[in-house]
Amino acid sequence: MAVKITDICISCDSCLDECPVDAIVDNDDNPTGEDVYFVQSDKCVECVGHNDEPACASACPTDGCIVWDEKSSGSVQSPNRGEVGSPVVDD
Ligand code: SF4
Ligand code: SF4
Repeated sequence: MAVKITDICISCDSCLDECPVDAIVDNDDNPTGEDVYFVQSDKCVECVGHNDEPACASACPTDGCIVWDEKSSGSVQSPNRGEVGSPVVDD
C-alpha cells in the first residue's frame, strides 16, 4: 500500500518532514534515478493511525502530484483510498 509521487514533483521538500513514518526520500536518494521525491512503498502506511488523510499530499503544493499507488494484500490501507493513479487530495 502506498501513495506515489509523480513526475510533476518540483522537489520543494514540503512533504519530507510531514511523513510520520519517514517513508519519503528526496531526489538524491530516489532509487529510480528520477529527479523527484520518492515514497518507499514498503514503509508508507497511508497515514492510517496518524492523520485523517495522507500528510504528504496535504502538504504538497503541486496539484495532483501525489496519487494512490497499488495496494498490496494483507497491508493496512486507508478506508478512503481512491482509484490507483487518482490524486490523493482533490483541490
Ligand atoms: S501517505 Fe503518510 S505514510 Fe505514506 S508517504 Fe505520505 S505521509 Fe508518509
Ligand atoms: S511536496 Fe510535492 S512537489 Fe514538493 S517534494 Fe513533495 S511531492 Fe514533490
